[in-house]
Amino acid sequence: MTDNSTIAAVATGAVQAGIGIIRVSGPDAIEVCNKIFKNRKGERKLPCYASNTINFGYICEPDDKPDAEGGAGEIIDEVLVSVFRAPHSYTAEDTVEINTHGGIFIEKRILELVLEAGARLAEPGEFTKRAFLNGRIDLTRAEAVMDLISSSNEFARKSAMEQLGGALSSKIRSLREQILHETARIEAALDDPEHYDLTGYDREISAMISGWAGEINELLQGEKQGRIHKEGIRTAIIGRPNAGKSSILNFLTDSGRAIVTDIPGTTRDTLEESVRFGDTQLLLIDTAGIRDSDDPIEKIGISRSKDAVAGADLIFCVIDGAEPLSAEDGELARDIADILSSNAGWIVPGEAGRASSGGSGRALSGTEDIPAVILLVNKSDREQKVSEEEVLAVYREAFSGFRKPFLNAVICSAVTGEGIGRIKEIVRELFGSGKLGAGQVWVTNSRHISLLNDTLRSLQDAKDAAENMVSEDLYVIDLMNAYISLGSIIGEAIEDDLADEIFSSFCMGK
Ligand code: GDP
Repeated sequence: MTDNSTIAAVATGAVQAGIGIIRVSGPDAIEVCNKIFKNRKGERKLPCYASNTINFGYICEPDDKPDAEGGAGEIIDEVLVSVFRAPHSYTAEDTVEINTHGGIFIEKRILELVLEAGARLAEPGEFTKRAFLNGRIDLTRAEAVMDLISSSNEFARKSAMEQLGGALSSKIRSLREQILHETARIEAALDDPEHYDLTGYDREISAMISGWAGEINELLQGEKQGRIHKEGIRTAIIGRPNAGKSSILNFLTDSGRAIVTDIPGTTRDTLEESVRFGDTQLLLIDTAGIRDSDDPIEKIGISRSKDAVAGADLIFCVIDGAEPLSAEDGELARDIADILSSNAGWIVPGEAGRASSGGSGRALSGTEDIPAVILLVNKSDREQKVSEEEVLAVYREAFSGFRKPFLNAVICSAVTGEGIGRIKEIVRELFGSGKLGAGQVWVTNSRHISLLNDTLRSLQDAKDAAENMVSEDLYVIDLMNAYISLGSIIGEAIEDDLADEIFSSFCMGK
């Protein structure tokens, strides 16, 4: 994988600007640039300049260039050239950065000269890849560079900076050290049972695994916060036909996009609409309802509605307050609880069905991450037949299987707007402004999330095995798998092709 070529690219965007930067890195970077750079006195002295210096001069055609268009030695641009000698550069290789005037044509012209002088065009992300391969930064920090470049808001910028500063790496390293320590302890005891005793160790390791999983779940919680900040709080609006779901959506968004009719089942598919409440953004999803139907088109809508409920951060459950509660309201409450219970509380968020895999079931997360439910008792402009307490009682009953469900009821009207202010207030109390706390580590990169989930799976297997008195030499394999997954996050023992894939998603010149 060692590549001794010298690479070059325009590091600034392809836009007309005050300056542009052409970056050249590799063992011949200084020699290559020396062929096309002259100082104020017309000398080619780049190899004599000290590291970390900025030097005034001119980019010129090489002296041996045939005297055609742009003849030998012709001045192309007046520039500043920075010289960084290995290992004191971004890539840890000899690097030259040419600050040119920032025209697209001029940058391209100078890049061509650099390539003719012996460099090759860099692939996207190749400078950062070299920084990683040369051991200057680990993988999470390399990826943070990419996240920082692509950040489109303050939250994304801050989380990328935390990562760039090494906050995630140090957390991962610490977890790895602890896992390795325990693995070594087990191995030692298996090799030398006379001196190392593992009596009672099953309980000890099980508790430790819970602690590690807790830390990983916290990292993954940051992912949710990041997504919420980026896309908005996913809010499913659910309720019986004609309760006023579309009207509530329209009132909140003031857009009139959802079709409002008095024929039950009009909203056949899900509708999404973004709405901002001060600092918080909601992605409202109007659902077709989750009651069963024989109509094939409605069936699709129903399945999407179920997905919307399962994937929601928040549920607005609209109840027609002008009609007395019926058995159907209780059924709907139970249907919602059923959908949520099938994917709540596993150590791998969003992954269902682990409870049956061993005695420990939901133990690793310790929390049930179900969405908050706000019951909107609608049509308060008409005579009210339902009280907040009545509807809360129905939902408390249906949600009694969850540890700490968040249930709240608000009397409101999509016609007069009564109660809408209270709904916004509750949302703000629940989700705050999504601001980062000091020193918090956030994981928003999908590769990291997937590897953290792999780690949790291996830890769960080890914990199940320990609790079921499986021999230590078997679950040591699970612990090592967790160790390896964590290692992949920071790029320890990373496969070459994986590194290629990661860095190719970088932009040119980085
Ligand atoms: P959905 O089927 O739950 O989406 O219900 P819609 O939003 O289509 O509303 C059904 C009917 O109830 C329509 O005739 C609405 O005008 C009416 N409606 C909705 N919200 C209110 C409300 O707050 N007050 C009154 N009086 N009528 C409402």
